[in-house]
Amino acid sequence: EPIDWPTRDLLSHRVSATPDATALVDADEDEERTYEEFDLRVESVTERLEPVVSGPDDRLGILMGTRVAFAEVYFAAMRRGVTVVPLNVRETAAELEAKAGRLALDAVVCESETEGLALEIADCPVVSVDEPDHDAVRPVRPGGGAGQPDRSVAGDGSIATTLERDRTHLLMFTSGTSGEPKAVRLTVGNLVASATASAFRLGVLPDDRWLCCLPMYHMGGLAPIVRSTLYGTTAVIQRAFDPRETARVIDEYDITGVSLVPTMCKRLLEAGWEPPESLRFALLGGAPASRELLERCRERGVPAHPTYGMTETASQIATATPAETATHEGTVGRPLSGTDVTVVDEEGTVLGPGEQGELVVSGPTVTPGYLDGDRTDAAFGDHGLHTGDVGYRDEGGRLWVLNRRSDRIVTGGENVDPGEVVAALRVHPAVDDAAVVGLSDPEWGERVAALVVPEAGAAGSLEPASLLAHCDERLAGFKRPKTIGFCDALPRTASGTVDREAVRERLRADGTDISG
Ligand code: ATP
Ligand code: MG
Repeated sequence: EPIDWPTRDLLSHRVSATPDATALVDADEDEERTYEEFDLRVESVTERLEPVVSGPDDRLGILMGTRVAFAEVYFAAMRRGVTVVPLNVRETAAELEAKAGRLALDAVVCESETEGLALEIADCPVVSVDEPDHDAVRPVRPGGGAGQPDRSVAGDGSIATTLERDRTHLLMFTSGTSGEPKAVRLTVGNLVASATASAFRLGVLPDDRWLCCLPMYHMGGLAPIVRSTLYGTTAVIQRAFDPRETARVIDEYDITGVSLVPTMCKRLLEAGWEPPESLRFALLGGAPASRELLERCRERGVPAHPTYGMTETASQIATATPAETATHEGTVGRPLSGTDVTVVDEEGTVLGPGEQGELVVSGPTVTPGYLDGDRTDAAFGDHGLHTGDVGYRDEGGRLWVLNRRSDRIVTGGENVDPGEVVAALRVHPAVDDAAVVGLSDPEWGERVAALVVPEAGAAGSLEPASLLAHCDERLAGFKRPKTIGFCDALPRTASGTVDREAVRERLRADGTDISG
């Protein structure tokens, strides 16, 4: 007889095994919840959601910051069997309204801080998790009023009793680095596969405490909560990243693992952070971790694990160990078990070790597709999902991610890898960081343009001419930036990737033309 797996939802599975283990810690309030307490709260939220969402076709938006209540609403939505749609609280009302309309959300859960925004953007019932008696959720705009669409699934009050592994359970938006954020369909099967593969790479120990300080409306922020619940370990939740506060929380709560984007890690180190003995891994993902950053991590004893991942694969694709990082500079390590990465050229021909091409990924963590079916058709090929990322692998199966296909600059018919120009600029003693993009150019098609962050102390004195001379020694003429601008910090998306469109805008507005 087959085992009914997993019964009802992942949390009820967990609570029956280890009810007394600590599930969640609210690091801001210094409060803990056991799995039994977590489960009771989730049950209460599940019941309160009944009037607004009921079945698998219903979509529940979550417009909340990173906090314990987010995890409760998320698992309640899983228990109700509805589709969860995390919304980015940093987006503008207009952006969110467009999304809410396109997705035809059936209800939105908000918190005090986002209540006004939720009412503005959503044309559906809104409930808040913040109510005076902290009981569960409070209707802000009740359902059932005029103008409410009939739900296709009857709200008969029954709660799903089994969890369908392959149904779309989550619609997660990408970061929108290369355009409009895309809604990615993810299944419980994808999330469980990701948690399992991650456990194979990183191990799971009974006293593990994963610090969650990334936004939960991105995959990298939500994944640790799902994993920790599956493993029966503890998730420590911090509302906002702050170098000193985050360093304190890591120390005080004996954190064993943390997910960071590289800029956060850099800021922690700049604030003097020295990790406690307890820390087993710091996943650095979402953007490349520079050589300088990894060197500083080594000096301070930070167990940095460069990680390549994306929303479409429920987070991690490949993760390097600190040892690999030292011996194989720039690698993101081997793909996690179960995940295959193939490198292909523009024609789709499979390339061998050392050859650069697009990374194509397949395996149980890979999305069944985007909400937009045309996008799905365009993204999947013979070997799986085309990531749009360019890289290569070595004989040992380790991966390197160089840039995105769409970032490649074509100037006067020559291809320029922006990463190579960034690397050359970064070794200039007065340069802290840089971003390199293509700007349209009447003569060259595109021109190479660089936005440079001077080292503290060098601001104001760093001259474009000095950078140009520096590049002359290191790069072919066509790779040299023809426009240079300066800024205090590179514009970034919420998940830490460089916002290339914002970089272009800055350079168009106040870059210096040095092509003459
Ligand atoms: P969009 O798909 O809307 O353009 P996005 O790709 O930035 O946005 P995410 O899914 O959050 O949205 O990010 C995944 C991407 O981040 C990867 O495809 C890759 O380009 C980049 N990335 C992630 N980890 C790394 C890494 N370690 N090194 C280099 N790039 C990385
Ligand atoms: Mg992407």
